[in-house]
Amino acid sequence: MALRRALSVAGRRWAQPLCSAPWGDTVFAVSSGHGRCGVAVIRASGPGSRGALQTLTGHPQPPPPRVLALRRIRDPATGETLDRGLVVWFPGPQSFTGEDCAELHVHGGPAVVSGVLRALGRLPGLRPAEPGEFTRRAFRRGKLDLTAAEGLGDLIRAETEAQRRQALRQTEGELGRLYQCWSETLTRALAHLEAYIDFSEDDNVEEEVLSQVDATVRALEREIGAHLRDGRRGELLRGGVRAVIAGPPNVGKSSLLNLLCQRPAAIVSPVAGTTRDVVEVALNVGGYPLVLSDTAGLRDATDPVEREGVSRARDRLQQADLVLAVLDATAVPTEPAGLGAALGSLLPPTATPCILVLNKADLLRGDGAALRDACARGDPLPPAALLSCETGEGLGRLLELLARQLVRLCGDPLAGSPSLTQSRHSLHLGDCAAALARYGRDRRRDLGLAAERLRVARRHLGRITGHVGADDVLDIIFRDFCVGK
Ligand code: GDP
Repeated sequence: MALRRALSVAGRRWAQPLCSAPWGDTVFAVSSGHGRCGVAVIRASGPGSRGALQTLTGHPQPPPPRVLALRRIRDPATGETLDRGLVVWFPGPQSFTGEDCAELHVHGGPAVVSGVLRALGRLPGLRPAEPGEFTRRAFRRGKLDLTAAEGLGDLIRAETEAQRRQALRQTEGELGRLYQCWSETLTRALAHLEAYIDFSEDDNVEEEVLSQVDATVRALEREIGAHLRDGRRGELLRGGVRAVIAGPPNVGKSSLLNLLCQRPAAIVSPVAGTTRDVVEVALNVGGYPLVLSDTAGLRDATDPVEREGVSRARDRLQQADLVLAVLDATAVPTEPAGLGAALGSLLPPTATPCILVLNKADLLRGDGAALRDACARGDPLPPAALLSCETGEGLGRLLELLARQLVRLCGDPLAGSPSLTQSRHSLHLGDCAAALARYGRDRRRDLGLAAERLRVARRHLGRITGHVGADDVLDIIFRDFCVGK
């Protein structure tokens, strides 16, 4: 009984309103992207949307909610028809932002769009939306949590299938629900602990309650630890796997970059030491994003500009998620041990995954079969491909190896629990896990301090979903959206 009473008090004390006071003004923007197009969608959100729709269409009533209606759209200042288009009325809270919203689907010519925007801007109480303002309003109204809002931003930016799958999962709230579930587990554990602290002496709350809290916290700590140890899969998929092409000068590194991106992005030359700056291209390999960099050939350079290029190449190698080590197939030993030694002298042993590319296969005479065998055998070599950038021979195998590495690094975005996708999430989860670890230490000495550790842990989870937050974090997140989103 005492425990139940304590829990209900605690529940009330911890209730956090997600949305603050509604914003008074009404904002509008093109939501369908910019440039000449067939149809442009202009969206308005806020208490003035209904009046704006009535004024621009000259109808005393908006159409029935969420039903498209064909209307003449007029400039209220002159009465001139700007366009004939479809309009939709979304009364709040059943709208994207949770506020009253209206949409005008007009022809996408620049003059039509700017005419409608000008007409909206002249209405009292209406102003152009800031970047990300629609999504921010949706967040403030509790329509989505911060992880879902971030997922929406990622969905708009997604360029590959796998990125789209991951972003959609996050937009639909899967990641937010996972963190919310952990937060609720902590809330319950904290309520039990507080009840024990407040009522154990007079109301006989059993010791067992305390050991249950310990077990819950330990299990949560393990779960968060496993989630954090996912090898940055979600982050890699979101931002693209950074692959660096490395090797001695003149082995065909720039040729490989050009072959993979199907255009002459990097200068190919028989003169060694041509590549000095890092050349970067973004690729889609089997639905996974790859950011590929061509770097200066690794050698002891005397020319100061080339030396700078080599130093930049080494920096890139340090940050790489994947290395494509290129060697000249005509200048390497054919047996695996010798090949391994050649690779070892190029790159120091590292935990970064690597694919060995033996280029210029077209120039091989009798050694082709031996090298192909060594590549197929693998261990002690990393995955390897015999390639000719000149003829394209071996490109299929290289793409297959690349796709396999990308799946290994990024995982299947639809399988298992959702991945964490932002360093912001890992930072807060790391702090949350640290607070849980401190709980374990403090629990034997000071129950009050232990309870505070749980509160801190819960606050970090709340910062990820936006249930606890500061406006400056929100500014940073929504600034990355474009106008109209
Ligand atoms: P990098 O210095 O490692 O970037 O090498 P490049 O891509 O600039 O190529 C150096 C030279 O090797 C150029 O003359 C290329 O045409 C040539 N080359 C590159 N790949 C091949 C290949 O697969 N076969 C042959 N025969 N020549 C190649």
